[in-house]
Amino acid sequence: MPTGFRKDFRTVAIIGGGPAGSATAIALLRALQSSHRPVTGERFNVRIYADPPKGTFRVGESLPPAASGVLRALGLEHVTGPQAPHLACAGTSSLWGNNEPGHNDFMLDTMGQGYHLDREFFDVQLLSEALKAGAELFQDWHLVGAQELYDGAALDFRTGKGERHTVHADFVVDASGHASAFARRIGVARNTLDEVLFLCAFADIPPGDSMTGRTMVEAVSDGWWYAARLPGNKAILTFCTDRQTARQRGYKEPDHWLGALGRTRWLRHQLPPTFTETAATLHMRAAPSTLLSAVTGSSWLAVGDAASSFDPVSSAGITKALIAATKAGPAIASWLAEGHRKNLHAYADHVLRDFADYARVRAELYSSERRFRDQGFWLRRLGLDGQVKVGVHNRRSTGTAASPPSIS
Ligand SMILES: Cc1cc2nc3c(=O)[nH]c(=O)nc-3n(C[C@H](O)[C@H](O)[C@H](O)COP(=O)(O)OP(=O)(O)OC[C@H]3O[C@@H](n4cnc5c(N)ncnc54)[C@H](O)[C@@H]3O)c2cc1C
Repeated sequence: MPTGFRKDFRTVAIIGGGPAGSATAIALLRALQSSHRPVTGERFNVRIYADPPKGTFRVGESLPPAASGVLRALGLEHVTGPQAPHLACAGTSSLWGNNEPGHNDFMLDTMGQGYHLDREFFDVQLLSEALKAGAELFQDWHLVGAQELYDGAALDFRTGKGERHTVHADFVVDASGHASAFARRIGVARNTLDEVLFLCAFADIPPGDSMTGRTMVEAVSDGWWYAARLPGNKAILTFCTDRQTARQRGYKEPDHWLGALGRTRWLRHQLPPTFTETAATLHMRAAPSTLLSAVTGSSWLAVGDAASSFDPVSSAGITKALIAATKAGPAIASWLAEGHRKNLHAYADHVLRDFADYARVRAELYSSERRFRDQGFWLRRLGLDGQVKVGVHNRRSTGTAASPPSIS
């Protein structure tokens, strides 16, 4: 019999201990506690199977003011409080669609403060909040196989010690980021709208050097640059381009990357000189815009990047994951404890609508930069390069079919 199968408990297995997995555990445990009409009187295990990336830096550090509201809703406002290491961010300055920088001040935002996170620390904070709420952690358990069953799913894991375990779960939450580790293993198609490439470098800001706490963005002919001050007197500088442009121009080579930085009009003047000294180490990350063909099934749902992933130009990935978690948790609870599926359907509608809104805003944003509209990078973002934009990567679709909106 698979391990983890106890008749007096029903098990919810959450795959992934990132923001989506931790926040869903918190929202689910709270909803189960406040569930007034249990059909079965059963008790629940909420287990997080986490296999965080090791020996590499974590990207995704900008938290817009909109996140403050959802952190409050989850009872987690203290994670960005004065005791936490994260840096307040006053807003964004960007050279986008214009030769002069424009400014967006977060001070005027009614939702609250924006932040530049210590991302690794933030993820650990959320995970420890999930454990405090009652979740169990299976650290370094990596999902390697999955099968849907009439009463849940059988999950195969490989542990950090090289052991193999098969576990029965009554309900599975796929929170494994854009790996969509569970959904893809049961054959759910993942639709790709677009993919950009991030070439990032980190720098120390030595005492005496200054750098604004605002996020800085500059659009250029081959993509756009992004710079942010990070906690611990560090900073990140990123060139967002795409694979075709990176290949043509050799941007994966630090010299060419630096050459492109040297051609920025404004950004290069805003950076401490140490940036150019540390640029020998370039980190590469793909950032696809994707949507699963189905985000819920008979005994599973996908949340966060596992369900849909956004271009970081939106700065919305973490916020989107947290908001979805506040809806996913109660939806799972009402299905498991009360036998209602309608909240799972409402959750799926939310993810699809959210992706449609994102695709529209993304298209507006990229088309608002008209100075480089004849360049390959910008044409490809708008689907005007003659290539088909939407790819489907998998064997079959299950559940509610949904096509991502096309960009006009
Ligand atoms: C280059 C880049 C820049 C970004 N910048 C920003 C930003 O500034 N602001 C912002 O809000 N968002 C940003 N994002 C997006 C943001 O990082 C994601 O939206 C966010 O991390 C989603 O959280 P998640 O919990 O869904 O997924 P993740 O944070 O990816 O967590 C998923 C977890 O599941 C684990 N996992 C994967 N496969 C398995 C498996 N088989 N078994 C067990 N565990 C598994 C992973 O190791 C990981 O720990 C950026 C993304 C990229 C690529």
